[in-house]
Amino acid sequence: MSGPCEVAENIYLIDTEEGFIPRLTAAYLVNEGRKALIDAGCPNSASTILKGIQRLGVDPKEVSYIIITHIHLDHAGGAGTLVKEMPYAKVLVHPRGAKHLTDPTKLISSAMQVLSPEEMERYGLMNPVNPENVEVVDDNAVIELSSQQRLKVVYTPGHAHHHLSLYEERNKGLFAGDAIGEYVAEAQFLFVDTPAPSFDLTLALESIEKVKQLPLEILYFGHFGVSRKVEEILRVAQDKLKTWGEVIRQAMKNSAGDPVETLKEFVYAELEPIRGDVARHNIWAAWATESVAGYVDYFKRTQGNLFWARKQGEK
Ligand SMILES: [Zn+2]
Repeated sequence: MSGPCEVAENIYLIDTEEGFIPRLTAAYLVNEGRKALIDAGCPNSASTILKGIQRLGVDPKEVSYIIITHIHLDHAGGAGTLVKEMPYAKVLVHPRGAKHLTDPTKLISSAMQVLSPEEMERYGLMNPVNPENVEVVDDNAVIELSSQQRLKVVYTPGHAHHHLSLYEERNKGLFAGDAIGEYVAEAQFLFVDTPAPSFDLTLALESIEKVKQLPLEILYFGHFGVSRKVEEILRVAQDKLKTWGEVIRQAMKNSAGDPVETLKEFVYAELEPIRGDVARHNIWAAWATESVAGYVDYFKRTQGNLFWARKQGEK
């Protein structure tokens, strides 16, 4: 494995090497007096995360917090295994996510409905988190890590209803989970991440608007890497969410066929900047297809919103 990388002062990116593929999914260690791990990777990534922490000279038992941005398998799945090695860690999660950490049955069955068998195999099976380790947090909660580092919880629904981001004061950074989208750092390329069954376009746009109000200098993405071009990325993220919404809404209106099929060309054109990176391109293509399906599901759930995207475009 490649070692953890210091991406800002006392902030380390740990490549979770999901499915043995590098640069797909990240966890972050905030290495202060009290240590916090942001996100737990998928179940199969737990040992890679532990090794990464140890490489930094940190004993996993010293970790005080595992903070889960949202309880999708690629962000929360490793928590049950990790907490066995981090017995003093509190696993912080949005109130809506807590019960799924201690009993992941529903989480796994809902993941099986939207993910392919290959993806489920890549993720692995999630162990439940010991209820004594779980603590709920919500918007504006503050987590003190040292005299110079505090994390503030920023509620950012849209990608999922229970999505939290974490603002860190030392570097003015935001651990954004999947709230802003996915970012391919080398290609400086941003992608929407809008899966069924709970994607909500309006909430996703509002959450980015909320993030824009923060004094931000750096963004830490779950997939994958960091960027200091905060203003540009947040603008592009909102534009892409609107464009995808409009394209998919039109396809649903105009075509009798499955919009996911109809939009294959559109999706592959969007993926063009990473075409040379075959392993990641294939996975991103699957994720992008799931994002189209997430929009379709959202528009079906909210028929009244079918014309929303056009109205926004006219502004
Ligand atoms: Zn994710």
